[in-house]
Amino acid sequence: MTELPPCPKCKSTYTYEMDELLNCPECGHDWKFEENNAGDENALVVTDAYGNILNNGDAVMVIKNLPLRGSSQSIKVGTKVKNIRLVNSDHNIDCKIDGLGAISLKSEFVKKV
Ligand SMILES: [Zn+2]
Repeated sequence: MTELPPCPKCKSTYTYEMDELLNCPECGHDWKFEENNAGDENALVVTDAYGNILNNGDAVMVIKNLPLRGSSQSIKVGTKVKNIRLVNSDHNIDCKIDGLGAISLKSEFVKKV
């Protein structure tokens, strides 16, 4: 299941792919789909719990209480996390949370903010 990015001009989500271009039926804009070829890690597509594509440097919000392994603390619902880094692993988001330090999260438990 691949999701095409929305139109950069009008934000329409009805974009479609034609030849090597993406087309927007609403405003007629067409553009080249930017594939990030700078290494495997950057080619990684990570989406949040709602299917929004996440990028390095994005801010996300935790949508579920997440117990921390080896600790009595947990990451609470609504915790905002800035400047995430995507990694190619089971826990595909690396980040730092105030008071907790470096944490790895699963993208399915966050939402882009
Ligand atoms: Zn458009």
